[in-house]
Amino acid sequence: MSAHPTAEFLPCICCDWISNRIARENCSVSELILPAELTRRTSFEFLILGCGTSHGVPMIGCHCAVCESPDPRNKRTRSGAIIMAPQGNILIDTSPELRIQLIREKIDLIHACLYTHSHADHIFGLDDLRLFGHYLGKPVSLYCEEIVEHQIRRAFSYAFGEAQANIHPGSIPMLEMNRLGLEPVEILGVPIQPIRLLHGKLPIVGFRIYDLAFCTDVSEIPEESWPLLQGLDTLVLGALREKPHPTHLSVSQALEVVDRVHPRQTYFTHTSHSLEYHTSNAMLPAGVELAYDGLRIAFGPGRS
Ligand SMILES: [Zn+2]
Ligand SMILES: [Zn+2]
Ligand SMILES: [Zn+2]
Repeated sequence: MSAHPTAEFLPCICCDWISNRIARENCSVSELILPAELTRRTSFEFLILGCGTSHGVPMIGCHCAVCESPDPRNKRTRSGAIIMAPQGNILIDTSPELRIQLIREKIDLIHACLYTHSHADHIFGLDDLRLFGHYLGKPVSLYCEEIVEHQIRRAFSYAFGEAQANIHPGSIPMLEMNRLGLEPVEILGVPIQPIRLLHGKLPIVGFRIYDLAFCTDVSEIPEESWPLLQGLDTLVLGALREKPHPTHLSVSQALEVVDRVHPRQTYFTHTSHSLEYHTSNAMLPAGVELAYDGLRIAFGPGRS
C-alpha cells in the first residue's frame, strides 16, 4: 500500500509523487503559479472557450460540409467561457474539452468556477481543475445551484468521499462548493448577477457581468429575467440551429430575444453543425454573429 505524502515528501504538482523528490527539484511548473499575464491585465475580457453544442462540431460519424470543413471557425468544442478579470480567471462550466481549451488559449490558472447547469457537456471536464488546487494552494471555489451541486457530487464521488489509501492526493481535485442563488454574488471582487433561464423544463442560470450577459442552453426566458437583460452592450446567447428544438432556442427565436433586448452586439453560441460560420453570418442582421472558439470580447469597466 502506498504511503501518503508527508511534509518532507510533498507530491509534485506536475509529476508522479512517488518519484517526486528528484522531479520537484527539476520542476519548472512553480513558475506558472502567478502568470505574468495576470499582473498586466487592467480590463475585462470574456473568452469563449467552446461554442459547440453537446456533440461538438465536427460530430462523430457526420460527414456534412460543416463537419468536414477545414475552417477553424467551423470547429466547435463543447460549451465554456472565462470571465478574464484583472483579479483572476472565473471559468463558466467545465466542458469535456477543458484541458484542450485552456492549453489552446494559454490560460495557466483558473481561480473559481461558475456552473450554468449540470448537463454532461457542461460538467464532465471538472477533473481538469485538479492542477489549480495545487497551483493556488487551496481548493478551487465552485459556484452552483443546489441541484447542480448534488449532481456534481454524484458524478464525481471520488472527489468528495473519504480519502482512500490507494489514491494519492494529486489525483483528486480540491474543490470548495459555494451555493448560488438568484441574488448577485461577488467572486474575486467581480459582481455577477445570475439570471434564471429555462432549458426545456429545466431551470438553469445565465450570468450578467457588468454590461455583458451569457445565456446558453436556453429555450425560454422567464418574465422576471427580462429586466436583467436591459442595457446590455454584449449578449452571448444560445442558438442551436434553424429548426426548432425542445430545449434550445432556434436562430429565429434567438433573434426575437435580440429584438426585445437590443444589445449593441450579440454572439450566438452552443451552435450545431447545421450552422456554417460564414453563410450563417451573412444571413444574420447587423450586430449579430456566430461566436467561435477563442473569441475574446472586451467588456465592463476599464475598457479602452
Ligand atoms: Zn449544453
Ligand atoms: Zn455534420
Ligand atoms: Zn444543457
